[in-house]
Amino acid sequence: MSELSGKKTYDVMIIGGGGAGLTAALYTSRAKLSTVLFEKLVPGGQIASTDLVENYPGFPEGVLGPEVAQKMEAQAARYGAEIIYEEVLELSKREGRFEIKSSAGTSYAGRAVILAMGASFRTLGVPLEKQLTGKGVSYCATCDGAFFKGKKIIAVGGGDSALQEGLFLTRFAEQVTIVHRRDALRASPILQERAKKNPKISFIWDAVVDKIEGEKSVTHVLLKNVKTGAVQKVPVDGVFIFIGHDPNSGLARGFVKLNEKGYVVTDANLAASVPGVFAAGEVREGAVRQLVSACGEGCAAALAAQAYLEGHH
Ligand SMILES: Cc1cc2nc3c(=O)[nH]c(=O)nc-3n(C[C@H](O)[C@H](O)[C@H](O)COP(=O)(O)OP(=O)(O)OC[C@H]3O[C@@H](n4cnc5c(N)ncnc54)[C@H](O)[C@@H]3O)c2cc1C
Repeated sequence: MSELSGKKTYDVMIIGGGGAGLTAALYTSRAKLSTVLFEKLVPGGQIASTDLVENYPGFPEGVLGPEVAQKMEAQAARYGAEIIYEEVLELSKREGRFEIKSSAGTSYAGRAVILAMGASFRTLGVPLEKQLTGKGVSYCATCDGAFFKGKKIIAVGGGDSALQEGLFLTRFAEQVTIVHRRDALRASPILQERAKKNPKISFIWDAVVDKIEGEKSVTHVLLKNVKTGAVQKVPVDGVFIFIGHDPNSGLARGFVKLNEKGYVVTDANLAASVPGVFAAGEVREGAVRQLVSACGEGCAAALAAQAYLEGHH
């Protein structure tokens, strides 16, 4: 007999409680589909770790990240979504039902699944990086650039995103120094040309950030030359880190199709390669890395799951 026999079968199981997952839960529970959402850390996902969010519609004065996160959770719960603070370790399909195994050793069953595990920015792993995130350290120019009007910034990285975001930051900052660990960029030639021509952009080659310094906010970085070992102290107001990000898709590997970077591949309806599985937000190939778009995708995935369930009684 299956471990799941006799257990409740949810209509929808959502993995991840960021903007995408919580919005999906709001829509499915409000449509009277029995919904369970699993979150391994805190409600709201990445947005809960930031200070002020100025580009989420409906809040002309901006809204604090933890506040919008907590309100999204309350809104989903209001319509009956069960929110379980456990990590999903395994996802499979058995006897026509999806099965989830959580970190508490519990199994759950459902008729449809929405993958909303988000992505994680790669970090430098240097002292004070974590403590000063949101206080000068950032991983997103679109999110935080506007807080750096007239300031001095370093942008770490040498690929397309480092240059694209570095160029965007020149709209606000007085000076943007690109710090790259090699002596040549990996970015596309057109972006290199634009960056090199921009009078606000300069480069420090062969250097890595050894330390970030500051008490209430970033004041300095210590840059180490990887060839000579020499360390220089540079005064800065902001450290933007653009060294890539990774989808939190490990548990879906081998179950649904992922692209070469590990993002979940979906069709235009956000359906993944296994019928009944959908993906929304930053874990999905092609997603834009913003809260509003993650929420929009959560809505779209929920409506697609609803349509799927209507056709599969
Ligand atoms: C510091 C910072 C500032 C930002 N500022 C802004 C801003 O100003 N404006 C803006 O629009 N965007 C901003 N963003 C980006 C925005 O937060 C993200 O685009 C958005 O949160 C993505 O939502 P998501 O639901 O796709 O993923 P996430 O927010 O990453 O949420 C995914 C959730 O899934 C959970 N999870 C993962 N795996 C499992 C598992 N196996 N089991 C259970 N749970 C799991 C994670 O713990 C996480 O809570 C910022 C991001 C950061 C980091």
